[in-house]
Formats: sequence, C-alpha cells, structure tokens
Amino acid sequence: MPIAQAPVRDIRFVINDLLNMEQHMAGLDHAMPLDAETMSEIVEQSARFLYETCAPLNRNADEQGCRYENGQVTTPDGFKALYQAYCENGWCSLDADEEFGGQGLPYLAHVVIGELNSYFSPAWSNYPGLTHGVREMLDHFGTDDLKSRYMPQLVSGQWAGTMCLTEPHCGTDLGMLTTSATPADDGSYSVTGTKIFITSGEHDLTDNIVHMVLARADGAVEGVKGISLFLVPKRLSDENSELGDSNHVSCASIEHKMGLNGSVTCVMNFDGATGWLVGTLHDGLKAMFTMMNSARLNTGIQGMAASQAAYDGALVYARERLQSRSISGAKYPDKAADPILVHADVRRMLLTQRVIAEGCRAMAYLTAMHIENAKFASDAGRRERSQLVGEFLTPIAKAFMTETAMETTDYGIQIFGGHGYIREHGMEQWHRDAKIFTLYEGTTGIQALDLVGRKMMHNQRGTLGPLGEDIQAWIEANPNARYTEALNSHIELWTTLSSEIAGRAAKAPDDLGAASVDFLMLSGYVVLAWLWARMDDVASRGEGDHGAVFYSAKQKSARFYFEKILPRCDSLAATIRTGSGALMAFEDEEF
Ligand SMILES: Cc1cc2nc3c(=O)[nH]c(=O)nc-3n(C[C@H](O)[C@H](O)[C@H](O)COP(=O)(O)OP(=O)(O)OC[C@H]3O[C@@H](n4cnc5c(N)ncnc54)[C@H](O)[C@@H]3O)c2cc1C
Repeated sequence: MPIAQAPVRDIRFVINDLLNMEQHMAGLDHAMPLDAETMSEIVEQSARFLYETCAPLNRNADEQGCRYENGQVTTPDGFKALYQAYCENGWCSLDADEEFGGQGLPYLAHVVIGELNSYFSPAWSNYPGLTHGVREMLDHFGTDDLKSRYMPQLVSGQWAGTMCLTEPHCGTDLGMLTTSATPADDGSYSVTGTKIFITSGEHDLTDNIVHMVLARADGAVEGVKGISLFLVPKRLSDENSELGDSNHVSCASIEHKMGLNGSVTCVMNFDGATGWLVGTLHDGLKAMFTMMNSARLNTGIQGMAASQAAYDGALVYARERLQSRSISGAKYPDKAADPILVHADVRRMLLTQRVIAEGCRAMAYLTAMHIENAKFASDAGRRERSQLVGEFLTPIAKAFMTETAMETTDYGIQIFGGHGYIREHGMEQWHRDAKIFTLYEGTTGIQALDLVGRKMMHNQRGTLGPLGEDIQAWIEANPNARYTEALNSHIELWTTLSSEIAGRAAKAPDDLGAASVDFLMLSGYVVLAWLWARMDDVASRGEGDHGAVFYSAKQKSARFYFEKILPRCDSLAATIRTGSGALMAFEDEEF
C-alpha cells in the first residue's frame, strides 16, 4: 500500500483552523474539554500508532480474510495483537465516561481515531467501531444494572459488541422481523431467531461479545411499532462480570464477500438465548435509530477515508509513472517521458479525489460537532438547533461521502491504468472495500428518503431548516469572501428545489422517491461548496502553521471545486425537475 503518511495536517486544519474546535468545546458541558494542541497530539499519536501496527495488516486481511471452523471465527493474522495493543493504548476508550473507565474526552477525539482506523484498514475499523456503537446505546438506554455489568468491559475493549437488525427476509423493512423474545420470571427474556450479515458477530479478539438484538416481544403488534431492543451476550456473566456459561448464541456461517474481507460478516442463531430489554418495550427501533446518527456518520467517514487513501495512493504513482509527453511540450525533458501527473486528464481525476476527500472531511467533522453539541451543549437552544442540523446532515454525510467514494476509488484504479486493476498496488481493494459503505447502515436510497421524506418534509416543513440559515448567515457575514456569488446561487437553487419537491409530493408521491437520491447528492455538493468557500477563506488568510504550499493548494482546490465539480448540480436539478413520469410509465411486465 503506497501510503506513507496519514492526512494528519488536513485533519488538524479542519478541526482547528476551519471549525474552531476550541470555541466548540467551550460551549459544551463536557467532562474534559480539549485544547487544540492536545487534539493535535491525539491526531499525530494515533496516526503513528496505526501506521506502524494496522497499515501493514490491511493487504493480508483482504487476501486471507476471516476463517470459520465449527462455529469459531479466526480473524486475519495480526488483528488479535493489534486489538490488544489498541485497547492497551487506550484508543478504544477515548470518549467513554470516566465512571466506566473511559477517558472522558470529547466525541471528536473518537471521530479522529475512527477516520484513521478506516484510512489504514477499513475492515479493521469495524471491530472497534461496532463496540463503540453498542456502548453509546447502552449508555443512553441501558438500566444502571446493565450498565454496571457491561459498560466497563465494553469501554476497556475486553468485550466487543454487535448490532443485530437484519434477517434473511428483511433488511430495510425491519417491520417484518420475526426474531422473538419471551419474558422469563426473573425479568430477562428468551430470544430466538436468526440474524444475517452481522458484522463482528463472532471472532477471536475478545472472550465475550455483546449483541444488541432487535426482536418482537410476546404480544407485540405487527410492524415497526412492535419491535424491542435486547442485550444478548455470547456468554453469561455474574454481577462481577465474571464469565460463566455460553448463552445459546451461535455463529452458523460467515459470508464470502466482494471486499472488506478482514471484517467478519456472520449468520447468527439465537436459540432461546437470555437477553435483557434495553430502553422501552416495543420502542426498540427508536432506541436503535437514536444512536444511528453517529453510526451513519461513521460509515460516511469510512467512505471519506477511502477517498483520501485512493488519492494518496494515486498521487504517489502519478508522480513516478513516466508516460508520454505533456500535450503542451515536455515538462521533464531529462526523463524518458513526463510523469503522468502533467496530463490534464490525470489531474482532473486526482483533483476530483482530493476535493471530495478534503471537502467530505470538513463535512464529517461539522456533522460530528453538531452531534456532540446536540448531546452536550450547555445551552438548551444550541442543543436543539444542533439536533436539527445534525439530523439533516447525517443522511447527506452518510450517502454522499460513500457514493463519492465509489467515484474516487474508481479513479484510484484508473490513474494506475492496468496496474490499478491488478492486485499488486492495492487500488482495486479500496474500490471493493468501499462498496459496502453505500449499503450497510441503510442504503443510499434509504438515506435519500430519510432526507427528503422525514428530515426535509416532516421535521423542517419543506425547508432546509437551520443548516440553510447557517449557510446564509455565513454568506452575509463574509460578503468579500471568494465564491459567495456561486454559493448564493446554489443555495437559491437548493431552496427552490426543496420547495418544488415538497409542493409536488402530495400530488405525485413517486416524484419524491424519484428525486430523492439526486436531491441528496445535490445537497452534498452544495454543503461542500459552503465548506470549500470557507476553507478558501481561511487559507487565503494563511494564519495557521501549515505552510505556504498548503494554503495555496487549498485555494487552488477550492477553485477546482467551484469550476469543475459544483456544476454537477445543474444536471442533478434538471433530472429532479423531470419528476417520476419516465420511471413510472413502465408497466412491470415491460421491464
Ligand atoms: C458486509 C455487510 C455487513 C453488514 N453488517 C450488518 C450488521 O452488523 N448488522 C445488521 O443488522 N445488518 C448488517 N448488514 C445488513 C445491511 O444493513 C443491509 O444489507 C442493508 O440495510 C440493506 O438491506 P437488504 O440487504 O435486505 O436490502 P433490501 O432492503 O432488500 O433492499 C434492496 C434494494 O431495494 C432498495 N429499497 C428497499 N426499500 C426501499 C424503499 N422503501 N424505497 C426505495 N428503495 C428501497 C434498497 O435501497 C436496495 O437498493 C450488513 C450487510 C453486509 C453486506
């Protein structure tokens, strides 16, 4: 893997210079606010740790994959030692409460390590990632008893976690799930059913695995309103968390996949396994989805990290690979040919990767700040506002950052030419690994429906809500910033389209579905335009410590974004406006 260094400087630029992390922290009721210097230290140390320990395993993890024998799963060589070192170094407990043995740092610190895990090995990133999600859910909805029995082990990484939603006949439409939960006399439940596609369902990294299982308790109504959430451990434990009997939870098989082979995907059987209710009976989907914002953001970040890695890999190659002369005359006459970096089309691909990776990074950390604000801001108004912005941004961040990763990782292959298609350089692995990001945690189509149906139409009554206001406020406060004109016109387009879609939805409901993915992508491009205008503005002042080349490249990247990428909105707007007629005109038998 030709990746020599992580995007440490760019992460620091985004969280400190662009988004002013210290100011953000100052408004939080948080155990341990961080200053910019400490955060930079976390970024650098975690990158160094993962570069040395995790990056060397990524290729083999893909080739060797996970192995299944008699219900046991062996993870790729090196993952177990990496997991131990990762936990011992405290990377898994950064933002957990000190009460449970965590370090009480802000959520942003976890987001940084999440990005870097994915950058060095997306398959590896799922192991700590899932456990973090379970921890958050338990912390939010668990009883004190469950927390005291499970949180310390999840925080230390001694035990791992999973999310068990999907069943053979239902993925998106969870209302159809049939896993059952029957109450026992002692307040626990007996959980029975089969879950498929369970990431980290079984592995050799920990001696216990805590499954968060969606099931239907006795007497529940049909559909999503009858679903409850249960904590079902692989092994039972006593009140001191000493492990006892196994709990009738077994892994029936593992999947053979297109990519992400180092991350195990399991069929899990629950055969009368003991579980405990988490949150309110029959309201489990709400508990699951309350925690979905950060889970979806994590998946978006996997996409963004893949874009960055594909760019970094392709850039090294584009500097080295000598082919043909520049169309405008030799640039390196002393060499046998010019490096392919001189060719305009190669630059187009590289710069597309770059502005997407860097723009998405800004989008990811902005979303993370709103998610954190919604939980911890000391001011109630700020909490409420951030809740709305975070909810609005999350489906955009998840789907846009992962769909664009398909383009950027494809360019990773294309820039290498035929050498990208063979395995040696690792470019095809990024493309294969990245595809799943558009699928799990809700497909792109489902994110788009969430955005237009729930967030825009329902929560914000057909408007762009407080996010639109934030962008407008920035434009007004920065009238002399470059690109405000282009930004203004795209905000206007975005606003007009949102009210057009809202207006048509009642009369032609399929128009909503037909427009949804295009509208989500357009939203992503407009949010990125705002963030690129802001990055350009910060870079043009050049006040930080990143160096002249960094600031000048940022400004040129902003120009590339506005001239070469943002115009994609025009084509998206045109297709949105044609409605659903061309799709719905087909009779089923005409397909
Ligand atoms: C590698 C891997 C890891 C996974 N990890 C987990 C895990 O840890 N836990 C877990 O519970 N699940 C997991 N999943 C499952 C994953 O979340 C689902 O596959 C995903 O949500 C889609 O569900 P589905 O595959 O059943 O597709 P379906 O729901 O059958 O959807 C098929 C297609 O129809 C579209 N579609 C469905 N409904 C609508 C609609 N109303 N409007 C428009 N389009 C629609 C979808 O967008 C999609 O394109 C994993 C899957 C994989 C492959």
